[in-house]
Amino acid sequence: MHTDLVAALDIGGTKIAGALVDGDGSLLVRAQRPTPAREGAEAVMGAVDEVLGELMASPQWGRAGFVGIGSAGPVDAAAGTVSPVNVPGWRDFPLVERVHKTAGGLSVALVGDGVAMTAAEHWLGAARGYDNALCLVVSTGVGGGLVLGGTLRPGPSGNAGHIGHISVDLDGDPCPCGARGCVEGIASGPNIARRALENGWRPGPDGDETAAAVAVAARAGNPVAIASYERAAQALAAGIAATATLADLDIAVVGGGVAGAGDVLFVPLRRSLREYATLSYLRRLTVAPAVMGTDAGLVGAAAAAIALR
Ligand SMILES: [Zn+2]
Repeated sequence: MHTDLVAALDIGGTKIAGALVDGDGSLLVRAQRPTPAREGAEAVMGAVDEVLGELMASPQWGRAGFVGIGSAGPVDAAAGTVSPVNVPGWRDFPLVERVHKTAGGLSVALVGDGVAMTAAEHWLGAARGYDNALCLVVSTGVGGGLVLGGTLRPGPSGNAGHIGHISVDLDGDPCPCGARGCVEGIASGPNIARRALENGWRPGPDGDETAAAVAVAARAGNPVAIASYERAAQALAAGIAATATLADLDIAVVGGGVAGAGDVLFVPLRRSLREYATLSYLRRLTVAPAVMGTDAGLVGAAAAAIALR
């Protein structure tokens, strides 16, 4: 049978999603399970097997030629293993081998979720038509991926473009990764909320203390909320500028929940970027919001698998 579909898996700390994706990026069949993140390795793999089992039960399964996985990181694409920070039961878990077995011997490509999102934005989203792009996911963490010379560049381990752990504050706060002053420690959603609370912002009657609530306050003119987003934007701008200066980029695409703040983030981000990305060849660098939405992980897992074949 003609194999024109990719079986895509998007593995995160809260859900495991799967789909059969066609050559236009449409999702033909979907399946999803919550991630039993606090349970052991086999329980988590059981959820992956259930998602795959649902896809395999579809009459379309015979058209699937290979499997693409985008996983919360870190991943080791060379070894075929994953160690997602938010799934403690999986450390150096041999996901590629296990999925290969479950999926009846189909070949499996593995990338980090930031690389998958980048593949999706380059294929069908905001980075489409740009040969040199950095795409960022700013959410609970800060991840990313790179397209250089028109090609997705995950690096040998599948983690290239992981901008969240570039240090932009030499003597800054210690980061769980072991370094100091990382972009993630300043710009992630939880850190935007923490900084706002530390500086006197208080949530409304609903008690919502998330970065999204801080964004609502910023839009209403709360100066502490505005300042917390400006600081996040500054860290992102410094990281983007460093990457663009090294890699000669055309565009930085910013997605993830924090990007949902809109102008509260993007206005100071573009302003800060002009302060850090100063060399003549960086004048063309633009910043755009991601457009692929919640399916970016699945579309990206398929796109990465196609790009890396
Ligand atoms: Zn770090």
